[in-house]
Amino acid sequence: MAENPLRVVEEQLDFIGELVKVEPSVIAQLKKPRRVIEVSIPVRMDDGHVEVFTGYRVHHCRWRGPYKGGIRYHPRVDLDEVKALAAWMTFKTAVVDLPYGGAKGGVICDPRRLSVGEVERLTRRYTSMIRDDIGPFIDVPAPDVGTDAQVMAWIMDTYSSLKGYSVPEVVTGKPVELGGSYGREAATGRGVAICAGEAAEKIGLQLKGAKVALQGYGKVGYYAAESLEAMGARIIAVTDAGGGVYDPEGLNILKLKAHERETGSVAGFPGARPLTNEELFSLECDVLVPAALENVITSRNAGDVEAKLIVEGANGPTTPEADRILNEKGILVVPDILANAGGVTVSYFEWVQNLNRERWPLETVNRRLEDRMRESFHAVYKLSRERGESMRTAAYIIAVERLAEAHLKLGLFP
Ligand code: NAD
Repeated sequence: MAENPLRVVEEQLDFIGELVKVEPSVIAQLKKPRRVIEVSIPVRMDDGHVEVFTGYRVHHCRWRGPYKGGIRYHPRVDLDEVKALAAWMTFKTAVVDLPYGGAKGGVICDPRRLSVGEVERLTRRYTSMIRDDIGPFIDVPAPDVGTDAQVMAWIMDTYSSLKGYSVPEVVTGKPVELGGSYGREAATGRGVAICAGEAAEKIGLQLKGAKVALQGYGKVGYYAAESLEAMGARIIAVTDAGGGVYDPEGLNILKLKAHERETGSVAGFPGARPLTNEELFSLECDVLVPAALENVITSRNAGDVEAKLIVEGANGPTTPEADRILNEKGILVVPDILANAGGVTVSYFEWVQNLNRERWPLETVNRRLEDRMRESFHAVYKLSRERGESMRTAAYIIAVERLAEAHLKLGLFP
């Protein structure tokens, strides 16, 4: 059975609690979200009947700044998953030192089976039901699995309509026309590629010509592929919810995206061999990028991983047991809370631009993203060498120490 991601978070925190000198209540507080919001969302479907969807927004921690985190639309969303994802946002914003806390939202639905109008009505009603719990200085949502810039535009419009004035800074990941930042859509994938580049150097792997296998070809997977290809790597395998494809000579990533847009999956891409999600993880390759869902590298398949480097585009793709196996095998794993932090970093840039009514050129955004990712990567890598720990453990040590420091300075209300 799949691991419960919330148990994974608790296990991670217990382990880190043994390694850092922080007040025990810090770990106890970080194990629990501050607030959980559950809403039942009635939506008129295209055929006239009303369906009731369940949605969540979880506020995990705001010691370092307003709550921040994506909204997921997926049939397998559940409350423990949203709680875990909210906690990971808290650690992620701390690792890359952004002035935010952590939050996450989710609606149990399958957006691929809903019409555009149904997704819009669902989004607007969900937004109206959590409107007092979000806001530019309260909680700033963003895209995640199953949501995109258009969904963010509807959230912004609904929130602004209810307020009576335009509030672009209530969400990030908006369309550029509405105050979205240049470079936001590609930011998470770019960040993954930047981490892959730095990590490859550390293990003496030439990224030029390196073979990359990816799970997920959505916002994160596709842009990671694009950036890695630009760095000289060869994308040899991609899988998604509908199946997968493999070509040892390298896939044409643009044509693959066009095929995916047209058919809904990368599966069946002409000229490539079929590949299952199970086969992907034991494929002979240099770099493995999980960029879909959590719990995909487990004790069952970790022993078969051939890659020299894993860069976690997805949140929580590796179970703790699998992590131990990968470490024993000497595979370098760049952990999710560092590797996929490029998205929230450019979300922060978007928020800053909105609050200052500014627009930064793409080059500025990308340069600042690269600086932040590189700096964070090296801090985590350095600590991992000094302490003889994995990069995941080092990233958690940095995050928990920063959070504990903030908590100490804030004190406990009342
Ligand atoms: P997306 O909806 O754009 O893409 C998701 C991809 O995962 C699709 O290719 C889909 O087919 C695939 N997928 C879904 N279910 C699957 C299954 N059961 N088996 C195999 N593949 C499956 O989502 P995204 O924004 O690219 O997010 C992907 C991951 O990255 C998630 O873990 C998300 O939390 C994480 N993440 C996203 C961002 C961001 O900015 N979008 C930032 C940080 C982390």
